[in-house]
Amino acid sequence: MDFASDYVVTIDGQAVKTDRTMDIVNPATGQAFARAPVAGQAELDAAVAAARTAFPKWKQLGWQGRRELLIAAAKAVEPHAAELARLFTLEQGRPLDMARGEIDLASYWIKAVARQDLEDEVVEDSETRRVIVRHEPLGVIAAIVPWNFPVLLATWKIAPALIAGNTMVLKPSPFTPLCMLRIAELWSEILPPGVFNVISGENELGPLMTAHPGFDKISFTGSTATGKRVMEAASRDLKRITLELGGNDAAIVMPDVDVAEVAQKLFFGSFYNSAQICIATKRLYIHEAIYDAVLAEMTRLAKASKIGDGLEQGTMFGPIQNRPQYDRVIKLIAGARDAGLTLIEGSAVPKAGYFVPITLVDNPPEDAPVVTEEAFGPVLPLLKFKDVDDVIDRANASEYGLAGAVWSKDIDQAFAIANRLETGTVWINDNLQNAPHIPFAGAKQSGFGVENGADGLREFTWRRTVFVPKASAAQ
Ligand code: NAD
Repeated sequence: MDFASDYVVTIDGQAVKTDRTMDIVNPATGQAFARAPVAGQAELDAAVAAARTAFPKWKQLGWQGRRELLIAAAKAVEPHAAELARLFTLEQGRPLDMARGEIDLASYWIKAVARQDLEDEVVEDSETRRVIVRHEPLGVIAAIVPWNFPVLLATWKIAPALIAGNTMVLKPSPFTPLCMLRIAELWSEILPPGVFNVISGENELGPLMTAHPGFDKISFTGSTATGKRVMEAASRDLKRITLELGGNDAAIVMPDVDVAEVAQKLFFGSFYNSAQICIATKRLYIHEAIYDAVLAEMTRLAKASKIGDGLEQGTMFGPIQNRPQYDRVIKLIAGARDAGLTLIEGSAVPKAGYFVPITLVDNPPEDAPVVTEEAFGPVLPLLKFKDVDDVIDRANASEYGLAGAVWSKDIDQAFAIANRLETGTVWINDNLQNAPHIPFAGAKQSGFGVENGADGLREFTWRRTVFVPKASAAQ
């Protein structure tokens, strides 16, 4: 695969070149390595028209027909996984083996979701009538995704939307469009024209999509600030929406844990993908009895981590994915330093590219921006607590409610704490877990609606309730 070569958008099963292109930067070098198409209103209109035209036939094909094609599409990615992983590392920055992990997981996810069904529900079966709820596809879906998991988060939308009988126009992030553009090219050999369209573009393209009257639903993953704009735009013609948004996840570590073992898991749950994960641990509350021991172990791990170009053997963490995010994280760290907080820096990072050292913040005040804001980068506040009620209040004192974790050998106590956390997901002695059959939804300002599981699948349908009289009932 020639990584610098021409990338195309896929509209109606055709590879389409756009008049304009944009630089795609390798975050490990800060240098452009490829150019991607810039789609505008004309390409968007064409993609929506193609998806509308394809919709009735795709819907008619039925679950089994669609299932076979989706599984074939997932399998078509597999022989290209190694080259896609390399492209992923170049555009996203993540180390190669973990980039490969995302490509493989995406393929697995599509197959798993494609095997799901939405059966009719009989909600009444009495002497006089049967009442049946059926799930009908909505029509054409606008899918908008971020740069942190550019392939997996796209498949979280593609697989349920398409298996349920919808067609789609996907817009990747302007920072990481290349893998999904290539995957769409592979799929144009398999999926009927117009069923799955991918258009890349600059900042203007998202708002053009949310304003477009040809979409029936917007499925969005990104920041809470953008999510609010999406919701506002969708309100104009009451498009359905699913919003997967930001998080500032708290983990609560009780005094009975095995410090060395748990610190390792906490470390990877906080810094995997250079901490650019919506469900990463972003506030680490540690019981005072073990605070110093956990801090010492986390410090040791930070100093031992190899941070660098994801293409280099042995790299554990790559760069921040893009320049604006790098600037935000650097500013957050500088603000913490200027406020006199105690920062502990991990191993040295390369000078070129968007690298940030792992930075631990030793017991900052609760109202410090490094605690209240979603960092989305490798800076983590470690906070001391003594009292369980107090730490639950502090964990819940956030506008976000995406996920959280409780760490303890006492599972009953951990379960009781978990049930008091105001987050869509809570793990006990674990983190970063999700699966195709498990619903994922943010509470508070972390989201609106559900992805994954049967609930996630239903979000791509509308309900038709049919009242069927029994023959025996009087007319
Ligand atoms: P972002 O909101 O800046 O962008 C997300 C996508 O929206 C991009 O494709 C972007 O081009 C597009 N966009 C930008 N402005 C738009 C507008 N006005 N209308 C429509 N689309 C628009 O987010 P990001 O910086 O790419 O991603 C990081 C954020 O995403 C973090 O807050 C993170 O927590 C969140 N996130 C959430 C989840 C989740 O499942 N809850 C998963 C991953 C990331």
